[in-house]
Amino acid sequence: MAEHEHVRVAVIGSGFGGLGAAVRLRRAGITDFVVLERRDSVGGTWRDNSYPGCACDVPSHLYSFSFAPNPDWPRNFSGQEHIRAYLERVADTFGLRPHIRFDSEVLQARWDAEELRWEVETRSGTLTADMLVSATGPLSDPMIPDIPGLDGFTGKVFHSAQWDHDYDLRGKRVAVIGTGASAIQIIPEIQPVVGKLTVFQRTPAWVMPRMDREISRFERRLHAAVPPTRALRRQLLWIIREFQVGAFTKHPAQLGLVEKLAKHHMTKVVKDPVLRAKLTPDYRIGCKRILLSNTYYPALVRPNVDVVASGLKEVRGNTLVAADGTEAEVDAVIFGTGFHVTDMPIAQRITGADGTTLAEAWKDGMEALRGSTAAGFPNFMTVIGPNTGLGNSSMILIIEAQLNYLVDYLRQLDTLTTAGAGRAALDARPEAVRAWNDRVQERMKRTVWTTGGCRSWYLDANGRNTTVWPGTTGEFRRVTRRVDLAEYRVLRVPDRTRRQAADTAGAAR
Ligand code: NAP
Repeated sequence: MAEHEHVRVAVIGSGFGGLGAAVRLRRAGITDFVVLERRDSVGGTWRDNSYPGCACDVPSHLYSFSFAPNPDWPRNFSGQEHIRAYLERVADTFGLRPHIRFDSEVLQARWDAEELRWEVETRSGTLTADMLVSATGPLSDPMIPDIPGLDGFTGKVFHSAQWDHDYDLRGKRVAVIGTGASAIQIIPEIQPVVGKLTVFQRTPAWVMPRMDREISRFERRLHAAVPPTRALRRQLLWIIREFQVGAFTKHPAQLGLVEKLAKHHMTKVVKDPVLRAKLTPDYRIGCKRILLSNTYYPALVRPNVDVVASGLKEVRGNTLVAADGTEAEVDAVIFGTGFHVTDMPIAQRITGADGTTLAEAWKDGMEALRGSTAAGFPNFMTVIGPNTGLGNSSMILIIEAQLNYLVDYLRQLDTLTTAGAGRAALDARPEAVRAWNDRVQERMKRTVWTTGGCRSWYLDANGRNTTVWPGTTGEFRRVTRRVDLAEYRVLRVPDRTRRQAADTAGAAR
């Protein structure tokens, strides 16, 4: 990195959010930007999560950029290796590589209130930027719970997002901790290989059939030759999900029918009433993310699998102890315990106008204006920010909507600057942030995530849902189409000649 380098925009992360931002910036004619990536390749969570069975449970034709369609998706729900390869191709096709700085983890970013710009310190050097975009995503920092005695465990321990491919699981006694989206993909893959598998299930998940299939060669050729067929496929996948949203956000009682289907899906496979009881959730479907699998229940009924219906509480030597006292001696522990979502570590590294970090500003819960900007953090935006998550559709739709907002934000800054009074920055007004979040939280009251009777990672330590968007993706797109200047304070840095003139006048006085 050149010394004293200054760029218009610095983007943190090169997953879907960061690469998408890079494409949109280039398309808006902005080439003066960098993408700061902590590792040595692109892909974000789709690079890091390489566990056996890792795939996306949103259909690939929807879980991809609208501006980078891929007629060649091999399956409805493509695997991690295909999604990662897609992101590598996006980086190549759109000429993004010259902008990407690998091995450049952001250590600190501070707002310089004098110069109205961000000072960004990375592992590979420092730079300044007019605008900082955090696209680290909520699934970038693995979370391993603080389990007493884990340090003394002499076997193998790893997290689903940090899979150790060199560790041979064959014949081993293995524990999987958690039964979330990652764990239920891992369990069927490793069950046939390991000697004994113990699943520590704190809360049972609702699991629905996974309508996966190979996308035939004919379909792929058709999509390549006649692009409207691909667009139509995407539209259909999108519209179905838009219609589903109301049941999650306004009429959770309608989900009762879906619960019946999920129960049927389980009882078809799980005949043992004791295991059935363990696996039956006591909360409304949709309250936690609905999981999709045809192989999870068949794996759990195999003779080498034990389901402990209790969370892992303690480790004594090489014995895992559940909260209900059940014990299991194991050789390896795999944590499928999720990520730091409502306490994103990057927030500790971003310092705003009054010296407060984003983590401090969000200590009582994350909140942003339109899921994007935070008061006191001028010219800073979070892609997949507070209350932008989805329960049932593609996050790529949300990312693209936020990128519209980013491009309009930069356009507004340009207009304000050319309007003559020196360089400008925008700081979200606290009252606008409050009003936005009050509206979001008011709508949240009726949703299944609040009323469904579960405790999920959608909720923060105070029980507030700061992660999910309580509406359709179409609505989110509408509300992020334009930056409303009335919601922002305009900050100005007087141009140098004026400042010098003012200093000279001051000295003369
Ligand atoms: P997750 O959904 O946060 O699940 C974490 C699991 O760990 C939960 O079952 C949780 O139980 C459990 N847990 C935590 N502490 C525990 C303890 N001490 N003992 C036993 N269990 C414990 O994490 P994830 O599965 O990695 O998924 C995170 C997100 O990534 C998903 O929601 C999804 O958005 C995304 N994802 C998507 C896919 C896909 O597309 N197929 C695949 C993987 C991940 P509780 O339920 O009791 O909290």
